[in-house]
Amino acid sequence: EDMTTRTIDLAVIPGDGIGPEVIAEAMKVMKRALQDEQAQVTFTEYPLGAQHWLETGETLTDETLASLRGHDAILFGAVGAAPGDTRIPSGLIERELLLKLRFSLDHYVNLRPSKLYEGVPSPLAAPGDVDFVVVREGTEGPYVGNGGAVRSGTDHEIATEVSVNTAYGVQRVVRDAFERASRRPRKKVTLVHKHNVLVHAGHLWKRTVEAVAADYPGIELDYMHVDAATIFMVTDPSRFDVIVTDNLFGDILTDLAGAVTGGIGLAASGNINMDRTAPSMFEPVHGSAPDIAGQQKADPTAAILSAALLLDHVGLPEAARRIEEAVEKDITSRAEMSDVRATAEVGDAIAA
Ligand code: ATP
Ligand code: MG
Repeated sequence: EDMTTRTIDLAVIPGDGIGPEVIAEAMKVMKRALQDEQAQVTFTEYPLGAQHWLETGETLTDETLASLRGHDAILFGAVGAAPGDTRIPSGLIERELLLKLRFSLDHYVNLRPSKLYEGVPSPLAAPGDVDFVVVREGTEGPYVGNGGAVRSGTDHEIATEVSVNTAYGVQRVVRDAFERASRRPRKKVTLVHKHNVLVHAGHLWKRTVEAVAADYPGIELDYMHVDAATIFMVTDPSRFDVIVTDNLFGDILTDLAGAVTGGIGLAASGNINMDRTAPSMFEPVHGSAPDIAGQQKADPTAAILSAALLLDHVGLPEAARRIEEAVEKDITSRAEMSDVRATAEVGDAIAA
């Protein structure tokens, strides 16, 4: 057996608000999980985000981006200004930091698992067995900034936001969805789109899914319009296994999925480059939560589960599984207490 110690070299972007608080717990749990492996982890912190922009006027420089490229993966907290902070132009941090990272590092798979753990209160009366992942396309669709406005500010303004869908981009994310489904027990892929109305992009997605499905005869294929998908996510979410969808539908659907499975404190995500030409980035779905920042009130579970996704991606699935099991155990125990633990106490409990 090969007993050489493997070192995982991670970049950490704690960010703003509760970002640093939840990331500290994710790092704690990760270090603990790797004690049992022939692996260790190093963390290099990068101060980026709204606060950093206020201090330096920089969002993401080419030098920082180049430096980030040298790491095995990126662990990301949350970035963003407090609402009402008028010093930061609207959309600046999103476009010039978050989307710049996603596009530059080619994070074409936005992975969002949704699992309803035992003991977690769901707003659904009969949620059933909820355990699915959304594979959201991350580099195309209406998020590419392709569009504009003419006669802006007048009563005759026309604004367009063009959704870009390429055969290359759709194929690679659809293939990833089938690959993931083939490693899961249910073996089902649901394409969510709206091809009855969005005929051009919709038909490309539909044709692509059907073509890729031919290579995966063991996988059941389902199709749902996005409006119907929002209904079923509430009335019968157990019918989903792997959902593949475009950038915008995926954004909306995964917030709904998070709400159905216990809320924002538990929702983890990965922005993944499956070709491994650049590091992937793992982050809780929630934002910087300025309303509770600095008070040790944030739930670090979403960040910790994001760290598990990271370890799985860098080839340490056993450590990832142990973190998930520890989280599951902790979550189940929460049912018996009114969970008023500090952020660090939750991290300590999961690490222990
Ligand atoms: P962003 O624009 O950065 O995504 P947002 O407006 O979507 O931010 P969040 O920052 O995610 O909002 O916060 C939404 C609400 O959820 C807030 O009331 C916040 O306190 C709460 N919240 C977010 N994350 C957590 C967490 N980890 N633990 C507890 N509460 C949280
Ligand atoms: Mg948000």
